[in-house]
Amino acid sequence: MKKIDFYRHNIDEDDIAKATEVLRSLFLTTGEWVEEFEKNIAGYTGSRYAVGMNSCTSALHMSLLAWGVGEGDEVITTPMSFVATANAIVHACATPVFVDVERDTGNINTELIESAITDKTKAIIPVHLYGQMCDMKSIRDIANRHKLVIIEDAAHCIEGSRDGYQPGQAGDAACFSFYATKNITSGEGGAIVTDDNEKAETLKSLRLHGMNSTAADRYNKLYRHYDIPMVGWKCNMNNIQAALLIGQLERIDSLLAQREAAYKKYEESFASDDRITIPATLGGGVHARHLFTIQVDPLNRDQVMTNLQDQGIGIAVNFRAIHLMSYYQSVFGYKEGDFPEAERIGASTISIPFYPSISDEDIDTAVEAVLKALP
Ligand SMILES: *Cc1c(COP(=O)(O)O)cnc(C)c1O
Repeated sequence: MKKIDFYRHNIDEDDIAKATEVLRSLFLTTGEWVEEFEKNIAGYTGSRYAVGMNSCTSALHMSLLAWGVGEGDEVITTPMSFVATANAIVHACATPVFVDVERDTGNINTELIESAITDKTKAIIPVHLYGQMCDMKSIRDIANRHKLVIIEDAAHCIEGSRDGYQPGQAGDAACFSFYATKNITSGEGGAIVTDDNEKAETLKSLRLHGMNSTAADRYNKLYRHYDIPMVGWKCNMNNIQAALLIGQLERIDSLLAQREAAYKKYEESFASDDRITIPATLGGGVHARHLFTIQVDPLNRDQVMTNLQDQGIGIAVNFRAIHLMSYYQSVFGYKEGDFPEAERIGASTISIPFYPSISDEDIDTAVEAVLKALP
């Protein structure tokens, strides 16, 4: 039986040649390749500055710190995300406060945000689920009214836009992931974009121990002593990662066109089957098409997943609701029933094979397998 992978990256020979060029050079860590990638991703997303990181998790964590979020603060976010979103809030010693999501998109329900705001609320982390942007216009209005910081989790959404905003334009910063399964990848990697020059400089220091110069500075210029005005972390992007990403970012729009075509074909194939629900695409912007997810009866979900795997179809679950993870239940007192829409998606969703180069034949095979797996 033919196996259909859940995901395939799109690193090509040119990307490998660039990474090889770095490997044959002296300087493997943060240097001019990272600077070039930062310039390019800031340009692509329409922000002034970018800071290359080793993951989106650390991008979120460092952004919270740079904007002054810490102990005693509350951060409003969605329970329908990868755990990294909430974990980053915990890493910053702040308290995650979840708000339920919209039924049809799975994005944070902006109408519920204000009732979750207290005098401890410092920030909002919206997550652009599956590549579709949240209602950033409304979130910006709320943040302005209550003087809150917005850090966007744009791990799924480099290419997206809505109401004229790209990630990072309505928020104070947006964080991207280049993890192995993301739309462009260096295996592991992340970046932050912002228009705030001072915060970008703080982030560059936070990603490297809090040092006031980089290894590249000390190598390329005459040695000078560095100082540590604050203690930072260790989460800088390296030149090898940047070299792998530069070409992928140049191709990102044509890769998105391929994703869009595959998405449409799946959507049409499932349109007439009322056992399957597909998250809504709102239009009026660009959907970054990170994943293709279906929702089935929660009573059958796990059995359908097992059956698909038996048929050789790669699957994933994006995502089970974060507030039901045992740590979040035991430490923050969340429980089943708190966020019904996120729980419903978490119990019914399955992600099926989806990537730019997936063939029409493989899509047909995956669709047939899903229809066969459903009771
Ligand atoms: C993948 C992902 C992250 C974490 O990205 P890393 O680069 O692996 O740290 C954060 N948020 C969401 C929504 C993700 O899907």
